[in-house]
Amino acid sequence: MPKLTKVLIANRGEIALRVHRACKEMGLQTVAVHSEADRDAMHVRLADESVCIGPAPVGKSYLNIPAIISACEITHADAVHPGYGFLSENAKFAEIVEAHGMVFIGPTADHIRLMGDKIAAKKAVMEAGIPVVPGSEGGVDTLEDAHRVAKDVGFPLLVKAAAGGGGRGMRLAKTADDLDEALSGARQEALAAFGDGSVYLERYLTLPRHIEVQIMADTHGNVVHLGERDCSLQRRHQKILEEAPSPALTPKQRTEIGDVVAKAVAKIGYRGAGTIEFLYENGEFFFIEMNTRLQVEHPVTEEITDIDLVREQIRVAAGLELSFKQEDIVFHGHAIECRINAEHPRTFAPSPGTITDFHAPGGLNVRLDSALYAGYKIPPYYDSLIGKLIVHGKTREGAILRLKRALGEMVVGGINTTIPLFEDLLNQPDIVSGDYNIHWLENWLKEQEEK
Ligand code: ADP
Repeated sequence: MPKLTKVLIANRGEIALRVHRACKEMGLQTVAVHSEADRDAMHVRLADESVCIGPAPVGKSYLNIPAIISACEITHADAVHPGYGFLSENAKFAEIVEAHGMVFIGPTADHIRLMGDKIAAKKAVMEAGIPVVPGSEGGVDTLEDAHRVAKDVGFPLLVKAAAGGGGRGMRLAKTADDLDEALSGARQEALAAFGDGSVYLERYLTLPRHIEVQIMADTHGNVVHLGERDCSLQRRHQKILEEAPSPALTPKQRTEIGDVVAKAVAKIGYRGAGTIEFLYENGEFFFIEMNTRLQVEHPVTEEITDIDLVREQIRVAAGLELSFKQEDIVFHGHAIECRINAEHPRTFAPSPGTITDFHAPGGLNVRLDSALYAGYKIPPYYDSLIGKLIVHGKTREGAILRLKRALGEMVVGGINTTIPLFEDLLNQPDIVSGDYNIHWLENWLKEQEEK
């Protein structure tokens, strides 16, 4: 394994900055890639070198594999970090990077492919000892098959896309009468979004929390879990606030599920950072999927463990051992992240435009991962996430008070953001007590609308 010297960051926005920061602290050079619309972006300004890889639309730039590989060759980068989204879970991209003699900072292409097919993933983790949501054993092709599964599993049922991601390709069937429409609806949406219409069935859990376990594995047989994150506050199956540890788990449950996951991941032979996502209801965990990349919400884990996950990803990719063992991991305090989106805080309508004023909150245990600056023009072509505000406190209560204080300091002028939404949410008794599940936010938003 060659010693790494220069990392090309195949992403934009806050995550490109996040990776850049870890690289600089490790003495590595960085290369930014950018679209024509991102010439003035902060990741371009901070990187040691930058290369324009195409016009604004993502298909022509951030997903343009030949352009990214050319950028690697021009700059003599020896490794590629894909961030999250874009090409981060594209097995072909990982293969191409390695075929060009560079290091892909992530798992093997085979593991990306395996976990990218949610039907195959569910089977693989089940065989490795992880509990899964009851449902169809494999894919479901016909309405008759679906009715057969429904007889065993019962209603309500969720039809899910095998290639699913970002909450797309999911349809609920409350009763047998809904099954036909749910099946064809999910299939059509999956085909349009992912080019693959395969679907499977799962029992629809009515009051679950979304709890996910972070793991790190090296190529020397070490697998360590870094505890869980609770990502139950969701809108349209997308996370908006995450915290660690989960208010719902005891230390004993944390250790138990962490150990089950670490053992299973070792059996699968996985390398790098990964997240095993579960729904958690009535004391039981049910696997839903594995993400084979760094997650948006990884900072809450970093805050309670003091471990730099991107640094570890790079170490593993360079063939080094993890810098810690399971017994070194000590969870301390509580961390909460909220996703600051360029969106209207109630309608969630996208709000691109020029940032007229900007002030970052600060103080003890306040972290802002963001590529914003005053005068920056948010382009309309990309994800609306413009920053993540992460706070750490000795207790959950302390973290909530700190988050309120930090939100109050933050100024993002000229556009709408989700900041006022978080200010409202942190005054809700259920959020303060931690008593919420994956449906809580949608119900609350509906109530607010009716008021
Ligand atoms: P994606 O890959 O699109 O993010 P996931 O399988 O991770 O899809 O599910 C995303 C979200 O959808 C979950 O966090 C949860 O809110 C909801 N969900 C998924 N499966 C179920 C289920 N069986 N029952 C209830 N909700 C579910």
